[in-house]
Formats: sequence, C-alpha cells, structure tokens
Amino acid sequence: MDIIVLKPDAKEDRITYIVKKLENWGLKANISKGTERTIIGVIGDTSVISEEDEDALKVIEGVENVLRIIKPYKIASREFKKENTEINVGGEIIGGNKIQIMAGPCAVESRESLLDVAKKVKEAGATFLRAGAFKPRTSPYSFQGLGEEGLRYLAEAREQTGLYIVTEIMDARDIDIIVKYTDIIQIGARNMQNFRLLLEVGAAKKPVLLKRGLSSTIKEWLMSAEYIMSRGNHEVMFCERGIRTFETATRNTLDLSAVPLLKQLSHLPVVVDPSHGVGKWDLVPAMAKAAVAAGADALMMEVHMNPEEALSDGEQSLRPDFFKKLIQELKPIAKAIGREM
Ligand code: PEP
Ligand code: MN
Repeated sequence: MDIIVLKPDAKEDRITYIVKKLENWGLKANISKGTERTIIGVIGDTSVISEEDEDALKVIEGVENVLRIIKPYKIASREFKKENTEINVGGEIIGGNKIQIMAGPCAVESRESLLDVAKKVKEAGATFLRAGAFKPRTSPYSFQGLGEEGLRYLAEAREQTGLYIVTEIMDARDIDIIVKYTDIIQIGARNMQNFRLLLEVGAAKKPVLLKRGLSSTIKEWLMSAEYIMSRGNHEVMFCERGIRTFETATRNTLDLSAVPLLKQLSHLPVVVDPSHGVGKWDLVPAMAKAAVAAGADALMMEVHMNPEEALSDGEQSLRPDFFKKLIQELKPIAKAIGREM
C-alpha cells in the first residue's frame, strides 16, 4: 500500500480520517489535489501495514483504489501522477508541448560578457539563461565563479532580456541568496546525492533542475528527486548530462535512453544537456537533435561569445551564430514529433 486514489467526490473529513490513520501507523501523507481526483502518497516504511489494514483502507468511503508499489520512489512516479508535470516559470512551461531552450556560458565571467551573450541567446530563441556563479571545479586552483556578484549580473541580464535564470547551488548555506536571484535552482551532477542540499531545495519555493550524477543509475536519480519532493517541492525536472563510462573519446557518454525511460517511470519533465554530455562543441548539434527526437522537454546548452577565452568549458561552448543556426535546424525535428519550439 503506497498510494491511495480517492474518488472524485471524496469528502474532506474522509481524507482527514485517512491521514490520521496513516499517522497512527507512523506514516506521513502527501496529498496531491489534481483537477480530476485527489491522491494520497504514503511516505515512510509502508511494510508496517498489514494486508488486513490495506483492506480496511479500501472500504473507507471515498477511496477508489489502494495501490501497492514496490518502487522506492513514490511522489516522483508515474503511478502517483498520470499526467505530465508542467512547470510554469513566468508563463514559460517546461514539460508542456513547447521545447524550451536554456543557454548561456558555463560561468558568469563578467557583467559585460554575460549581458552580451544573454542578448544573443535570447535573439536566437532561448527562453532561459544558464550560467554558474558558484562553480564546482575539479581543481581548487581553477576559476571558482563570481559568487553573489555573478548572481547580480544574472539578475541584470534577466531584467534586460526577459530571460529566466537557471543557476547552480553548491551549498545549502547559499539557499537564501540563490532563491533571491534565480528562477530555477540547478543541482549539479556532483551534488545529485548531497541529500542535505536536496532537502534544503525541497523546502524552497522554486523549481529545481536536478542533473544526473556522474555515475548515477536512473533509480538513484529518481530517489534524489524523491528527496526534494518529499519536502513538498514538486517542481523538479531531470537533466541528463552524460555519465561516466569506459569511453574517454568524449567527455561523458550522453545517455539519451534515459529520456524515454524517465518518461515511463516518472511524470516529471526531462531536460538534456548535450554540452556536458559530449564535451566538444562540434558534437553538440547532432546530440541536441537526437535529444529533441528522443522527447526532451528542454535543452540546456553552453554558449560563449568567445569560447577560446572562456574561463571554463570553452571546448564545448557554441558561438552565438552557430547556436542560432542550430536552433533553426532543431525546429523541423520538434515539428516532426508534434512539438513546438
Ligand atoms: C554546468 O552546468 O556548468 C555544470 C557544472 O554541469 P554538471 O553539474 O552537469 O557537470
Ligand atoms: Mn559547464
């Protein structure tokens, strides 16, 4: 017994009764009121509920069905919510029919370069500006990002262009400042299993873009989404950015099979980042096209005014003109699968 599906006309006092019952068993209820029906997700060790208890729940007035799922993730699962989750950021929907484009440099490097590239990606058709102010670098001697100064430049770029901001949080202590400036909080690959951080963003009232860990399985990734959602924040999107395999010819191996698989297992939107997936700018277009064909709800791509001067990830960054051309090439692919861009 993991999910209780209520009849459309279920009464409020019956819902309260069920919640009380669950609490008496040491469990928690996560109530999701949909347009058609209300669903109660049962959180906790559901093995404490016997078959008799399950039968008793089934006969409560207003209960349509009691589903037992062995999957360890619940709120993130398709069983919990049949319809796709649509995340609305100022009118731009992620997970709807339109494929969204998130683009920008790896890091905020300077005010001027950020504003320049923001205008370029906007003109090319992007709806979101990506750039890190806090950068998770492998070496402590590499550029670490501009911190709050970078966030202020992002806010300025947002004001000037109307692009919504996606930026990474690296530490739970930065939550207030990140929430103040960003529209979507990015959890980077290296923090996918930083559970305290996941719980922190789970309590925030901002959508979360959850990148796949460097060597994480789909199940671990779903469990990380579950961590965030268990705290009440249901606006989570996955972002496939390549995984580590034996292959070293590309930076990572972009697992595009994750897209249709996540769509089966979960109702959450799926974003693909071909830039970190391949690590080479001239391989990005093919993988971006493949990601659209595979059913991605959004693409995240690195774009830089002058890649050879970039302070990070220059080798995978597209020049604005090339990026603009790519967006035009993606459109017929989106159309062919019945989506807009
Ligand atoms: C990034 O988006 O710039 C980044 C650091 O990505 P990832 O966490 O996927 O490596
Ligand atoms: Mn990067």
